[in-house]
Amino acid sequence: MDSLPTVLIVDDVPENLRILNDVIASLDCQVAVATSGERALELLNRTQPCLVLLDVMMGGIDGFETCRRIRLLEQHKELPVIFVTALADDISLGFEVGGNDFISKPFRVDEVRVRVQHQLEKYRLLQELRELTITLEDKVHERTADLNLLNRNLRKEVNERRYMQDRLKYLAQHDFVTQLYNRDALDEHVTHLISDLPTQPANAPLSYFALLDINEFRLINDSCGCIAGDELLHQLAELLAEQIDPKRDFCARMSGDKFVVVLDNGGAEAVASFFRLFNQALEAFTFVWDERQFRISVTQVALPLTQQISSFEQLVMLADEVCYACKKSGVKTRVIKDADDMEFKEHRGNLNWGLRIIDGLEKDLFEVHFQQVCSLTQSRSKKKIEILVRLKDEVNGGLIYPNDFIRAAERFGIISKIDRWVIQHTMRELSKRTQLWEDIDQVAINISALSVRQANFSGFIIEQLEKYQLDGSKFCFEITETEALNNFNDTRNFMSLLHEQGCTIALDDFGTGFSSFAYLMDLPFDLIKIDGIFIKDMHQNEIHFGMVDSIVKLAKMLKKPVVAEFVENQTIVDLLKSLGVEWGQGYHFHKPEKL
Ligand code: C2E
Ligand code: MG
Ligand code: MG
Repeated sequence: MDSLPTVLIVDDVPENLRILNDVIASLDCQVAVATSGERALELLNRTQPCLVLLDVMMGGIDGFETCRRIRLLEQHKELPVIFVTALADDISLGFEVGGNDFISKPFRVDEVRVRVQHQLEKYRLLQELRELTITLEDKVHERTADLNLLNRNLRKEVNERRYMQDRLKYLAQHDFVTQLYNRDALDEHVTHLISDLPTQPANAPLSYFALLDINEFRLINDSCGCIAGDELLHQLAELLAEQIDPKRDFCARMSGDKFVVVLDNGGAEAVASFFRLFNQALEAFTFVWDERQFRISVTQVALPLTQQISSFEQLVMLADEVCYACKKSGVKTRVIKDADDMEFKEHRGNLNWGLRIIDGLEKDLFEVHFQQVCSLTQSRSKKKIEILVRLKDEVNGGLIYPNDFIRAAERFGIISKIDRWVIQHTMRELSKRTQLWEDIDQVAINISALSVRQANFSGFIIEQLEKYQLDGSKFCFEITETEALNNFNDTRNFMSLLHEQGCTIALDDFGTGFSSFAYLMDLPFDLIKIDGIFIKDMHQNEIHFGMVDSIVKLAKMLKKPVVAEFVENQTIVDLLKSLGVEWGQGYHFHKPEKL
């Protein structure tokens, strides 16, 4: 509870003190009394008055001097002082020394009360105002501090966010192993350069796309493990980064063992100098792993970004094509100078196959045909068929046969797309044609060894079997033996997953490859298809006859049935029967037709 305000009455006449005391006491105030100016000054701090009634004429220092001294005290500068005086001419001096009002003697009680009340009210309001100002100032301080803190936190949060965004952007654009740009970032950069081509002046030096393919990567990755492979990539990326001009050149890891450097507007000289520097560094480089030393070679090709290049994908396929051709002919470095380069034109021709296949898949230009496979031992057996893919020729009409495009599809890594299309399309068709499905004993579908190597390819086949509710044991998958089957673990795994579904697996075109026998011994094939080139002239070619004979004997020992391809006449049929071949396939029995 607030205590009552104190009024200090200063007078040396007891009668005056009494009268004033009575008036003040009736105003709900406490009274403090001093009988001299000196005493009043002493009492100030102790009584903390809200008002002083100060007699002018006193012994010792008079009222004016007392007031002057009060005003010198910082704490009481605003303390209201009312002079109590009998002399009219004192008034102006009283205001000069800091008095606020005066009361004249002899007292009139009403006047005293009004003047005292007025000063007390004024003082109270002043105090309230001061308190309000103080609280307001406190609040302002508090709010300012809050705002500062908020501001600091906000700035911190903005910085953290900016960092996260930068980090995310970095991760999205960089390769984890080498810290170089990744394929997406390269795509963006090259696409931008391609779209800028029409605005380039005709005589501006060309930008070049340099592809570097590590020849020994698979050897190291497969024989020493993928940690060694990653380390090799990391070291080569560093070597590469040292040879480029980071202000001009864009360096990326494009895929597994392929790096790309884009030399912006450097012309063919810049590429030649970059290849020279890189090769010097590579000469001095040895990769060491587990105390073994490896010399590394890198096939390097560079292509100009000319108006003929329409997209990043096309450029990559083209570079791959040139690189592949270099590897095949043992060339280490090849710079295509401009669009008139003859080889460049040839590669673009090859590349057309890649683009046609992609186009064919997009426009649904593929179709499936089938050829019957006939029993040579039983006359009334059920039907076996082999599915064969064809591509419709949009330009000239007619059909394009797989020998024309399968190799290109394998080269450009799109063969599995074709295989998936054929599997899906065949299964869908068979699920719709119930009579045909009933009549057929077995459907053989060709798949590339590159598809076998795809991690989820068997999963895809199983999915399709489930989707179309077809019995897996009616399907045979034919795989042609190639180098790509070399990874026996993957192949065995693939075969076992399909065997679980009841499918059989045939080794196609047996006899032409180098490792046919090894495959046959090491992998659980269910059927052997002898390559047609030995069959179609076996009645005229003793060596081919001998080959067929020994393959059949071997198959019998392994207890695997045999299919002979390219059976073109009855003489061949008779010969095959005499050797004990179970199945024949060829134009003599049936020419492939649309499914
Ligand atoms: P393949 O699996 O050995 O198929 C047999 C090939 O021999 C077929 O050629 C067929 O039309 C042809 N042929 C059949 N009978 C005779 C004959 O009496 N004489 C002669 N000279 N040829 C005959 P096609 O359809 O041109 O297929 C060629 C190869 O393309 C196939 O050889 C197979 O390896 C591959 N292929 C076909 N379809 C697919 C597919 O869907 N995926 C994959 N990855 N490869 C496929
Ligand atoms: Mg086949
Ligand atoms: Mg074949």
